[in-house]
Amino acid sequence: MDRRDFITSTLTAVGSLGVSSLGITSDPQKTHALTLSFDDGFKKSFYRIAEIHENYGLRACLNVIATGHLKSFKTESKYIPQHLLGDFDDWNNLKERGHEVMPHTWEHLNLTEIPAAQAKDNIEKCLQYFTEHLSGYTSKGAVYNFAYNASTMELEDFTMTKVSAIRTGGWLVLKDSKVNAFPVKELPLRLGCRGHGPDFCDDYVEQEINSFLASDGGWLILNLHGLDEEGWGPVSAQYLDNLLKRLITVDYLMVEPTGGILQLMMQW
Ligand SMILES: [Zn+2]
Repeated sequence: MDRRDFITSTLTAVGSLGVSSLGITSDPQKTHALTLSFDDGFKKSFYRIAEIHENYGLRACLNVIATGHLKSFKTESKYIPQHLLGDFDDWNNLKERGHEVMPHTWEHLNLTEIPAAQAKDNIEKCLQYFTEHLSGYTSKGAVYNFAYNASTMELEDFTMTKVSAIRTGGWLVLKDSKVNAFPVKELPLRLGCRGHGPDFCDDYVEQEINSFLASDGGWLILNLHGLDEEGWGPVSAQYLDNLLKRLITVDYLMVEPTGGILQLMMQW
């Protein structure tokens, strides 16, 4: 091993140690997987979400907008006001702390409402931006989270040639089921999620999780945004804290970010 290889493998080992200090290890006894998938990149909320997860040794699932930190970002100013969004220094910082940061969108357009060629170009620009600005980002293991959970089969297929999984509306890919298949058998994956808004979603989350925990199992992905006053369908910080405190005591449940579950299942 030459010096460069040694440094690289040492850094990799240190990096993976850092990550494995947060999160539950893979356990074949677990029949239920839950991902709380937070979108958009509200700076204050995302640091708080990370902190709450850390209190319970968990990793947060954070999905951000490639151009959200630029003053030019103007899409959806009611629910995603630009001045509340963090930047890639924040995302690198949170990733360094062991949390998962994944691509949500280039500029938060509904890609089903623009020409397919433009939609594909937006997806490519988004993934390229992550490659260049998010430390350690690789397409292997990456999850692309469609804005508004809006996609077409064509856009999903296109994106699945570039990342390991896409997350879109559960109503599009899960049909009558509320959950994704678990354990994961092969990649790339088409994952479905659900959410509730624009008002507080604490009651919705509580109900969904309770009925999931009483079910036979699977992988439930709930799409959330900010905490308290931030974002569409916010969850209260106090509720999130109490929820995670309770969930880590459920022995048949794994609470992990989307990419984290792929990693555990594929044993990368
Ligand atoms: Zn969004």
